[in-house]
Amino acid sequence: MIIQAQNLTRKYKSGLGEIVALKNVDLTVKKGEFLAITGRSGSGKSTLLYQLGLLDRPTSGDIYIEDVNVSNFSDIERTHLRLKELGYIFQDYAILPSLTALENVTLPLLMMGLDSREIKKKAETALGKVSLGHRFSNLPSQLSGGEQQRVSIARAISHDPKIIFADEPTANLDSETSKVILQVFLELHKEGQTIVMVTHEKEYATVADRVITLSDGEIIKESRGSLQ
Ligand code: ADP
Ligand code: MG
Repeated sequence: MIIQAQNLTRKYKSGLGEIVALKNVDLTVKKGEFLAITGRSGSGKSTLLYQLGLLDRPTSGDIYIEDVNVSNFSDIERTHLRLKELGYIFQDYAILPSLTALENVTLPLLMMGLDSREIKKKAETALGKVSLGHRFSNLPSQLSGGEQQRVSIARAISHDPKIIFADEPTANLDSETSKVILQVFLELHKEGQTIVMVTHEKEYATVADRVITLSDGEIIKESRGSLQ
């Protein structure tokens, strides 16, 4: 198993009370698996993704990445693991407006301290994989929403991460462009990439190998994707 989550609970303090956004969730993800997490707005999808992706810490429970319990990792150890081994894609692309497509993809590689020839090669390869080989020097404002999302996917995969996490990657896109993005995920998956994707669109979730449905912070359903 590449991810094992045991008994994950995440509570948020809110005003006078407390919200239990995740309740004792157990979940495993196999190496090379494409897992989709679906459910209604507020069901806890992003909260679960953020715990699995080490972007947040659970109130209780344990997470193992490749059999290593990362629950007790320090912030620095977690940051290191995120930068080197994980990749992230968000609904709003989260790319920097003043940097070109190539520079956006280059940035995390620079932070990793790779040498400049390797950085250039990895960034160009990643942009090629998402069919943006001809858009290296465009600024985000000179790209469509779908193209901006492909830049963010290139950035997420450029360092060959063990797992990519995507939170509603198609939520800002029309249905035609959404399908292009899903196709990119399917191609990465075919190459062996482990993917965990959140989407509230049931129809999009079914492109994955396995779909889990959340409701009120609990997994209420688990099914195989329709392409299986
Ligand atoms: P989803 O991604 O499925 O829409 P979320 O994981 O964002 O759901 O939220 C689950 C629940 O936790 C919701 O009730 C939401 O309002 C609440 N929540 C999420 N983030 C916070 C936060 N930072 N502080 C307080 N409540 C939060
Ligand atoms: Mg969400």
